[in-house]
Amino acid sequence: MAPEDIEDWRKGEITRDTLAAFARSLVQRREMGRGKRPAHYTERATCKHCGPIWLWCPGEVLGCPWCWNRMADRPIPRPHAVRCQDCAHFRRTDHPHLGHCAKDEPEAIAGLWDIDRRYCERYLPHPEPGANDGSADDASLTKG
Ligand code: SF4
Ligand SMILES: [Zn+2]
Repeated sequence: MAPEDIEDWRKGEITRDTLAAFARSLVQRREMGRGKRPAHYTERATCKHCGPIWLWCPGEVLGCPWCWNRMADRPIPRPHAVRCQDCAHFRRTDHPHLGHCAKDEPEAIAGLWDIDRRYCERYLPHPEPGANDGSADDASLTKG
């Protein structure tokens, strides 16, 4: 609480209900920090910076409550699978489809297949969509 809130509380100007709601929001924020979805976050949405997220309303947003997790490098629960190819943490090898995860997510010995779909709480959308895909390499492979 801000100092003025504490002062209001001392003066009895903050109700018990307000305090209870404040406490609930603190607990929810702590749970979210651990990557736990609040029960009322039932809709699938997309945050420009976090990618696919659970939210209380569907649609596309420029920022979201999960942005706190993203900035603190904490997990974000996902409503659907993602492709490593679209992720900022995907590091390609010289193989046209394989790469490794900069966040040390579990992967096969050979690495991660770029277009495979997987559930990943560390996924973050690549800042330049399409920049990380292997389509240019694929095109050169099929030409030969
Ligand atoms: S963070 Fe997840 S989606 Fe991104 S490269 Fe690693 S395993 Fe793939
Ligand atoms: Zn976000």
